[in-house]
Amino acid sequence: MDYYKICEVCGKKYHPIKSTQVACSKKCSNAKYNRVHQGKSAEQTRYMKKVHKNDRGVVDCAKEAKKLGMSYGYYMAMKSGMI
Ligand SMILES: [Zn+2]
Repeated sequence: MDYYKICEVCGKKYHPIKSTQVACSKKCSNAKYNRVHQGKSAEQTRYMKKVHKNDRGVVDCAKEAKKLGMSYGYYMAMKSGMI
């Protein structure tokens, strides 16, 4: 069966490997992902990156947060200087 889809990013025809595939290549897939996530504010993205960089492991942080009687979200925000 000659089944193909049109890439949502560059408009090229391609044969999808997975039925959920929406772009022809990894590059286009990333471009689409970035486009979708541009809906978030730049501040939020920066914050998420920062949290990710400082991430020692969610379990560790959750434990520490509990010890201090804080929620995980509050603890992470405090740790990254948001509060
Ligand atoms: Zn493409």
